Order: sequence, then C-alpha cells, then structure tokens
Amino acid sequence: MQICMFLSASYHTFGCSSIVMRQKWLKMDVFGISAGLLGMYLNGIYTAFFCFQINDTNGCGMGENCCKVKKSSSLSDDATPGYTGGERKRKLQLSSLSDCAPYDATQEIIFPPELKHKNFDSLSFAYDHHHTKWYQPVDYDDLLTLKRELPHARLISGNSELAIELKFRFIDLPVLINPKQVKELYVKRVEENGVYMGTGMSLTDMDRYVVKLMNELTVEQVKVLQNIHEMLHWFAGTHVRNVASVSGNIATASPISDLNPIWMAANAQVVLDSADRGERRCCIDENFFLGYRKTCIRSDEVIKAVVVPLTTKNEHFAAYKQAQRREDDIAIVTGAFFVKINPDTFIVEKIRIAFGGMAPTTKLTLTTMSKLEGQFWSQGFLDQALSLLSEEMKLPAGVPGGMSQYRLSLALSFFFKFFLKVSKDLNFMEVQNVEQNLTIGNTIPKSLNATQVYQEVNDKQKYDDPVGRPLKHVSGDKHTTGEAVYCDDINVADCLHIAFVTSPIAHGTLNSIDYTAALHLNGVIGYIDAYDVYTGAQIGHHNDTPVFVKDEITFHGQPIAAIVATDHEIARKAASLVKLDTAAKKPIVTIKQALEADSFIFKHFVIHSSLNDNETVVKNDWSKYERVVEGSIDMGGQEHFYLETQQCIVIPHEDDELEIIISNQCVNDVHIEVAKCLGIAQHKISTTVKRIGGGFGGKESTGAILAVPASLAARKFNKPMKLKLERFDDMAITGTRHPFTLQYKLAVDENGKFIDLDYTAISNSGHTMDLSMGVMQRAMVHADNVYKFGNADITGKMCKTHLASNTAFRGFGGPQGMFGTEIMVKHVAEQFNWDHDEIREKNFYQEGDCTPFGMHLNQCNVTRTWKECKTNSDYCKRLEEVKKFNSENKFRKRGIYLTPTRFGIGFGLKQLNQAGALVLVYTDGSVLVSHGGMEMGQGLHTKILQIAARCLEIPIEKVHIRDTATDKVPNSSATAASVGSDLNGLAVQDACRQILERLEPFKKENPEGGWLEWVNSAYVNRVSLSASGFGIIHHEPVDFFNGKGAELFGYSVYGTAACEVEVDCLTGDHHLLRTDIVMDVGESLNPAIDIGQIEGAFIQGYGLFTMEEIKIRPDGIRLTRGPGTYKIPSADDVPKNFNVSLLGNSSNKMGIFSSKAIGEPPLFLGSCAFFAIREAVRAYRVQNGKKEYFVFNSPSTPERIRMACEDFVTQHVPALPEEGSYTPWTASV
Ligand SMILES: Cc1cc2nc3c(=O)[nH]c(=O)nc-3n(C[C@H](O)[C@H](O)[C@H](O)COP(=O)(O)OP(=O)(O)OC[C@H]3O[C@@H](n4cnc5c(N)ncnc54)[C@H](O)[C@@H]3O)c2cc1C
Repeated sequence: MQICMFLSASYHTFGCSSIVMRQKWLKMDVFGISAGLLGMYLNGIYTAFFCFQINDTNGCGMGENCCKVKKSSSLSDDATPGYTGGERKRKLQLSSLSDCAPYDATQEIIFPPELKHKNFDSLSFAYDHHHTKWYQPVDYDDLLTLKRELPHARLISGNSELAIELKFRFIDLPVLINPKQVKELYVKRVEENGVYMGTGMSLTDMDRYVVKLMNELTVEQVKVLQNIHEMLHWFAGTHVRNVASVSGNIATASPISDLNPIWMAANAQVVLDSADRGERRCCIDENFFLGYRKTCIRSDEVIKAVVVPLTTKNEHFAAYKQAQRREDDIAIVTGAFFVKINPDTFIVEKIRIAFGGMAPTTKLTLTTMSKLEGQFWSQGFLDQALSLLSEEMKLPAGVPGGMSQYRLSLALSFFFKFFLKVSKDLNFMEVQNVEQNLTIGNTIPKSLNATQVYQEVNDKQKYDDPVGRPLKHVSGDKHTTGEAVYCDDINVADCLHIAFVTSPIAHGTLNSIDYTAALHLNGVIGYIDAYDVYTGAQIGHHNDTPVFVKDEITFHGQPIAAIVATDHEIARKAASLVKLDTAAKKPIVTIKQALEADSFIFKHFVIHSSLNDNETVVKNDWSKYERVVEGSIDMGGQEHFYLETQQCIVIPHEDDELEIIISNQCVNDVHIEVAKCLGIAQHKISTTVKRIGGGFGGKESTGAILAVPASLAARKFNKPMKLKLERFDDMAITGTRHPFTLQYKLAVDENGKFIDLDYTAISNSGHTMDLSMGVMQRAMVHADNVYKFGNADITGKMCKTHLASNTAFRGFGGPQGMFGTEIMVKHVAEQFNWDHDEIREKNFYQEGDCTPFGMHLNQCNVTRTWKECKTNSDYCKRLEEVKKFNSENKFRKRGIYLTPTRFGIGFGLKQLNQAGALVLVYTDGSVLVSHGGMEMGQGLHTKILQIAARCLEIPIEKVHIRDTATDKVPNSSATAASVGSDLNGLAVQDACRQILERLEPFKKENPEGGWLEWVNSAYVNRVSLSASGFGIIHHEPVDFFNGKGAELFGYSVYGTAACEVEVDCLTGDHHLLRTDIVMDVGESLNPAIDIGQIEGAFIQGYGLFTMEEIKIRPDGIRLTRGPGTYKIPSADDVPKNFNVSLLGNSSNKMGIFSSKAIGEPPLFLGSCAFFAIREAVRAYRVQNGKKEYFVFNSPSTPERIRMACEDFVTQHVPALPEEGSYTPWTASV
C-alpha cells in the first residue's frame, strides 16, 4: 500500500480534479494495515487508561468491628465439629502492594519513535487503500474544499460512531476526511453570545475548558456549563470521551444523545461552514433534527463550533440522565430544562424543555413550553406542567425501545426534580417537598474500602508447603500485561477463517440459500452447510441439535451455513452477503406461551420430602392450614459475557487426525461431539485448552457448536480453520442462564414455622435440551435454600421455546431455585406482618437436618455465617439508621438486608463426579502436571500446583501445568459444578502418592538426599517417574421421576451477605453502599483465590439480580447482542464498602485438605442487593400507603424500581392497553 503525503506543494486528487495541489508528495510503503486503522495510528494513540484507585489510608471498612480495633475479634471462633486444622491465625490483609514493582514514570509505553520524530500525524496527507481514500488536511480551507468536492465523504473525528457502523453494518466508507489537524476546529473563547467551543475538541478537552470557565466566570453565568460538566461524567467512559468529538455527537443526531438535549434547552447554536456559502449559525432547536439520525446540516458543511449561551441571574438550568447502568451507558431518557423567572412576580418568562430518548429525535416540548410561559411558578404550575408533559410526551405501548411507561415517568420525574431545585434556588418555600434532598448517593464516599479476612496457616506448617497460603494467581502477571496466550493469539500457518451465516428469524422454514454474492468476494474459498454434515449427525448430549439448519429454523441466530475465507473479516462480510429465503412461523418465546401450548422439552421432575420417611407420597389437606401464602415470581436469564468470546482452531493431520485448540470448559465433550459428527474414532482427535478467558458455564456444553463446523471445514478444504465468534454472534448463537418462573404455596404455623410447601420451578430451556435437565434438578434441590420445611413437594418443568438453547451458568439453576424461596419468605413476612429475619432464623436448618431431597446436613454452618455476618455488618444498628434515613427522606430510600445461602457440591450426574490426572517427573526434578480441569481465570491451576507441591513435598516452583488435553487425560468432566479443585485435586493427589511410593525406597536408602537425588536414583534404577491418578467424590442419585431423595451431595457450602442500598425513587437509580459477606470455605486452599471468587461471584450475582436484562422481541429476535445493549456491572457499581470474611474454624472432611468448593456458592448472595432494593422500594410504597406484599420480579432494573415506586408521578402515566391489543417491544421470556 502506498501513502502519499503532501508536505507543501500539492494535493493528490484521487479523482477530485479541482482541488488545489499545494503540497508535494512523500511516499512510503505500509503493508497490511487497513486505511481506517492506519489513520487512527497516524493520528496518535488515543487510548486512555482507567484507573481505579483504592484509598488505602482509610483502614478497615468494618469500622469499630475491625479485629484490629477489637483486639478480641468479634468474628466467632466456635469450631465446626470435626475441625481438623489446628490453630490458624486470622489475618486482615490479603496481599501487600509493597510486593508489586513500583511505578516508574520513565517506563511509559512508548509511541513509535519514528512516527513521533517525523511528525507524520500532524502533516497533510492523502492515501488510497482497498478502495478507501483517506484525506488529512491541515489547512481549514482545504477541509472545506474537500467537503465541497466530496460531499459524501464522512469526517472521521473520534471514530467512536463510524467504527461501530463499519464493524456491524458493513457500511462502505469510500472516502474519509480526518479533520483532527485543522486548528480552526479547536478555537475556544468566550464571546458576546456565549461560549464558543471548536468541535474538533474531544469531549475530555471540552470538559476541561468548561471546568476552567466554571472557575473563571460567575456562578450565575455557568449554569449550563456546570450541567455539561456533570453530564459528561456520565457520558460513555474515559476512553471514548478522550477521542469522541462534540461534532460527531451532533452530526450523528442520536435520539439518545446526552448532549443534544442540553444544547436544545440551552438554546445553543452550531457554527456550520462551507466552501461555497461560508459560515452560518444555526440554532439547535425543533428545526435542527429532521428525523431519526438526520439533521439540517448540508452535505458540504462542516460543524465548526458550538456556541453555548451563558446564563444570567434569573435563569436556571438543569439536566438529568438515567441509564440501565450508571457508568458508561447510553441514556434511557435524558432531560434538560431551562427557565427564566421574573424574581419579583415569579412569572415564568421563558421555559425550554428538551428530552432525549422520548422520540426518534431529540425533542423540544413546544406545546408544554408555550402553555407554561407566562404562568406563575407555584405548586399549581408543577401540576399543570406534569399534566401537559404527560400528554405531549405520551408514548405508545409498543414504542420502539420499549419501557413506554417508565420513559414517561422519567421525563416527568426529571421535571419534578428541576422544579424542586429551582424552587429551592429561589427560596420559594411555598411548594411542597422543597426541603427534600433529591440527589442520591451524595453521602457515598468516593473511595473504596475493602477488607478481606482469612485465616493464616499455622506456624507449624512447613515454609515451602503452599497449601492454605494466599498465593497470587499463577498467570496473574501475564493476564495483567497481556502476555497470557489465548486461543485467538495462536497463529497457525496457512489457516483459513470461518464465519457463520445465521438465521434472521426465530421460527420457520429455510427454503433456499444463495451463496453467489458471497462467493464473488475476493478471498472467499467456499462454504459448508447442512449438506456437508455426516448423515444424521446431531450435536448435544441428547443428539438434538442440528449442526446447520437444513429445513426447520428453531431460533434467531441459528447457524445455517459457514463461509470459509482467507481472513476473518472477509468471512464475516461474505456471510452477510449470503441470501436466505425463509418463511417465518409464529414462535413460542415466553414461559407463559410455552405453558399455554404445552410445549415442554422433557417430562416433569418431582421431589416429595415425604418419601424420605414413607413408602408413598403423603398428600396434605391444604384447607386445614390457617396461614397460607401463594404466589409466583419471574427471574430473568443472564448472558455469560466472558471476556474472550468462543473460538477454536482445528488443524487436520494425516490419517484423519484432528488437532483442536478451543476455548472451552469441557475438552471431552468437544472431543466426543467432533468424533461423533465426523464419524471418526476418538483416538484420532486431540482437544487442547491452554486457558480460557472466562466461561461461567457458557463454555461448558457449547464447544461443539464451533468445533464441529470447523472440523468439517478443515476436512473439506484440508486446511487449518479458525472460527471465532464476534460478541454479536456469540450472544445470539449460544444460550444464557435459564429464565425461570417460580410458583409457590406455603403454609406456616402461628409461630412462623414452615409447615408445608408446594413449589414449582419452570424454566425457559430454549429450542433443545442442552443442560436444561441438570439445571432444573439443581434448581429443585436448592428450592429449600437454608430452611427446614415440614413437608415439601417440588416440581420442575422445562419449557421448549424458539430461543437459543439455554445452558449452564455459574450456579446452574441453584440461584433460581433459592430466589423463589427467598421471595416466598418475604411474602409470608409481609402478609402476616412478621419480621423477615426472625422468620428465617426460626426456620434455619440445624445440624443433621434432612433436606426435601433426602440429604442430611452435616457441619451445617448456616447459622454461624448468618450470625457472624450480622455482627460484622453491624446489621441491627444500621437497620435503625436506615429507618431513620427513610423517615427523613421522602424520595430517597435506603434498604438493608441479610441473605443466607446453601450450595450443594458435586455434579448432578453420578459419572461426572470423577477426574483423572497425569503427573510426569523429569530427571532435573521438574514436574509436569496435567489434569482434566480447565483454567479459566478462576485459579484452578494455581490450586492444583499447591496441591501437587504439598503432595510431593517440593517447592511449588518445581511444578508446572502446561495445558489441558484429551491425549493426556481422557474422559474428563467439564470444569464446572465448582468441583474443579475437589475432583482434579484428588486425582493429582493420587498420582503424586503413587510416585512418592515409588521413591520411598530411594528416600530410605538416602535419607539425607533431596528430591533431585531420589528422582535420579529412581531413573537409574528403571523406576517409572510418571503416574496417572484418579479421583471421585461422593454422589447418590435422586430419583427425580418418582421424587425419592438421596444423599445427593458430599457436602454444602454456606454463606451470608448483608447489603445496604440507596434508591432514587423518582428515577429507579440505586447505589450499593455496603456489602459484607461471610463465606464458609472450609480450610481454604488459597484465600487469595477464594476471596477473589467470592467477590467476583457476588458482583456477577448482583448483575444478575439488579441490572442484566436479556431483551427479546415478541417474534423471538434477540435485541441484546453486545455491550451497547446488555449491561454487566461496572467498576462504579462495586459497593464502596466491601468486606469479605472467610468463616473461621470450619473444616470439611469431604474435600481435599479439608477445603470446600467456591466457584458457584457465593453467586446467590448477589440477590441480597436485590432484596435490599426491594426493602427501599417497600419503604417508599408504605410511605405512600401501599403496605401490602407486592410482586417485584428480577432483575430490579431502574425501570422495575421506578414503576414499583407508585406515586403522584406514575399517576400521570396512562395504563397500558389490554394485553394482546398491541405488540410490546419486548417479550417477558
Ligand atoms: C462505547 C461508547 C459509548 C458511548 N456513550 C455515549 C453516551 O453515553 N452518550 C452519548 O450521547 N453518546 C455516546 N456514544 C456515542 C458517541 O461517542 C458520540 O456520538 C460521539 O460524540 C461521536 O463523536 P466522534 O468524534 O467519535 O464521531 P465520528 O465517529 O468520528 O463521526 C460520527 C459522524 O459525525 C460526522 N462528523 C464528525 N465530525 C464532524 C464535523 N466536524 N462536521 C460534520 N460532521 C462531522 C461524521 O461524518 C460521522 O458521520 C458512545 C459511543 C461509544 C462507542
């Protein structure tokens, strides 16, 4: 590729003949970089680094309860029966920052010196590559001339918008003009009309300038600027703000822009310039945005600047934004408000109200504004404004984007906030609630306090025995520096790339496929589809999932074919060119629809606790119970959102051999499925995983969806194949956590004891079985959570729908089962006006109790974790403080809640509870351990290294784990069910034992010798230095067909969390103020890893229960397919006060070295935040006279919170029309 730089004399024209040639060419060769990328490169490295600071000077978040303060720790030390660990010390600090290399500012990442030296980034140049012409003018006139000659050229300012269009809409960008070096676009000054800001500035630069002016001008003048500054804090993230421009935001004309409502309400102007007509100033008003993403800017014009009026004494301004997630999320609604009030008469002289998110364009409320002008600022003014706005901004029930009632409520609530703010500023005390503080979170500390309490190993433990020590993750440094190798980092020579052609509909028939356009694209090699699949081959444990659609389409995003090309992007583009002829049919999308249609994936399951003591099921007479609650609750699914999307490489070798490198949690399943679908023996295949970038269950059973097509293509074209899913496809093709409906009927006695339970868990399983059976069974055996029921009948139903097959997700149904139960407990407490903590304490399992599914609970630590958490969190005192806060605050409410959990450890299927390992000792004394578990960031390999080092009595540095592979350890189970270290640890222990036994004679012969000598003696004496180990854990199968229980799991893990939240009842926003967790992990193998798992699981559970929302259209089209629409918790959502404590003096005779599993058990504790939010919402409802129990489904999104906070604002919102009379935007799956 050639880049042509014009330094002084002439412009190269690329077909625009009239451009003055004023610069001479400089030529240089640059290979293999796309035009867009190169342009970005030459423009400089814009990446900004997030910096999450922890204030480590504040001490312990446990305050007075800190064990440093209370020398005799308040943490209970009463030992679990059977505790074997001896004396262990408690330690507060997990790791020391002094262990890290100090920051060295001279070692910053360097910008390529040659580019810096030659200043290429600031020169004018033009180049042509792959049919894209790129211009970078330095001269302002050149910019205008270029825009005149190339009116359809796009200006690439920050590229934050264009890059998305390019990636996902495959738009052609034949001509790009980069204006970043034109200094006229950076002019900034205060002029007569206001503040003039050149639109070349990044948002960060603009913010800095705004802050500067806020310090220089008077408080009265900067009311709009102040709001720009505050809004920018919530605009995207730092990295986007550092590159994105104001001009890009205005030109994009997004109806949910955060800034456009501010420009509109402030009566700001844009300065537009063109070569032919010169400069004009244009108001950003109702005539500026012409339609969805359309403005009145002409094609030859450049946005030069924005001019923001300064405010005067009698003018007031405010702007508000609400998004699904507070940080780095696009708005649901943004509102900006300006009012000018006569200070003597309180008459409104001018009012401007603008909203984003309420129409296809940013909207000025002209009718309301005209009717409010000239009115007296009063309580009546507010009522009138709310009525007018509710009429003017009313949204139809099925409005695109959905949430019609919530969006209107937000618009009204924002106005109410503005009204109170202005009234307060005016000291106009005649309006109601003027004294109320409406800003939530203003008492929340900015810094993060986190404590981690664990037991340090006994002094007597050998110094090089690593078990129980908080060693850092063995790949932690590599994760941090980016040197850790993942599937996509592996480059295989001669490799081709595959991209799926997916179904555009959820249900229907595929009539034909036309590959013509795709095959014409340069670089396309061919395709594979259903006709390449071995006859009858289906994937999945139940052989029910077609590799590719042949006739019937069963979900949106289903793979129909795959294009093979020389490059990933070419394959993607070609896949988008494949023409599909389909005929759509009505899909079943929701649980409700499936129940109505009797659409189930398998027969129903049952558990009858009465069968634990009787031969037949005992049927109780419910009419005899005096206190019964009955209800139903919905819980949404969850995207796995692992950092690394699913991918694999398949390399064909001689004799039909296939080498598969994959990002998956179960190498064995991939191995079996490929062998099955290609009709080759398993010994011809090796499947390997080095590490995966997160799995969370999403990579447990889904590997074959990629590996089978890639293997088919590798065989068909006899070349290595790489298949990596873009996030967009990954989220459509692979399933999610199962959404559930949980129905319950519970009888309680006069003391609140649970007498009888009838519980039905119903899951949305998607189009095939996948792991739905196991998920349902786990939901059923966790429906008791930590409570003893006199009698319990539990049923499980799995609905078959036209969705991607829902699958494993950390917790595997357990959280869903427990959620219904905790809701039921709330229902009882609220219905009979009982204290929910007392009710729960009364019904906690006691040592030796039997669960409905027949398992006796030994070392039952529920009460210990509960009590300790209650003490650590200072729950009782803070509960009183919360009540006081709520009595003093009308629109902000707090909630505090305790949530206990019990999680059974082991796979639900007996044969999966086994593991193998291979330990190889080399003559230099180094040891290579292979086992069946996958490292996915959870620290499994670190724990296994610790186990191996202890077993062999050698330093951990001598032990290494390379990867997980089916040709080293066959038939391994998925790394799932939290038993990775339990199972594989036992297998490694077994292998090490065998080796130690073989070394024993040499040790005896040479007791003074060391490991190396013994190993070499064994070698010289022809004794094997390798061993394969095997391990199993306890399992007894429950008969789910007849309902007869068994001692299903070897043990349970217990924990309790306490959460406090603050809720903005007017917007539905919330802050998680503090979280305390006490978790029983037995004798932790590695407290650093275990506490990391607890913190991570809690946050993932918090996302599940409060903000992550899968959105699916009623026709089955999945809307949430990326980070733009699907929100997982961000750094800002982490509780500001986060204390995790491992339960002391707990042991576990069923776990390796007395430890307990940790991966999944803490996840349900995330629901504690949900229940705390519910408490806050309830406080608001009670204040408004609504005392009765209310249904509050999960997740508690801002929409659900706001709509549950029924008040005078929601009264202005029209009710939805009758169900069935309109098509809602999304279906409640
Ligand atoms: C992760 C992410 C988060 C985001 N969050 C938010 C958010 O919270 N709130 C929000 O409002 N937006 C958000 N956005 C949208 C986006 O950042 C803004 O729209 C941004 O301001 C676009 O500016 P840009 O310079 O990157 O535009 P570019 O991508 O460079 O260009 C976009 C369009 O503007 C035109 N254009 C650029 N400069 C000029 C000019 N001088 N004259 C005429 N036309 C011009 C281009 O031709 C192009 O059509 C987000 C985007 C991303 C990727």
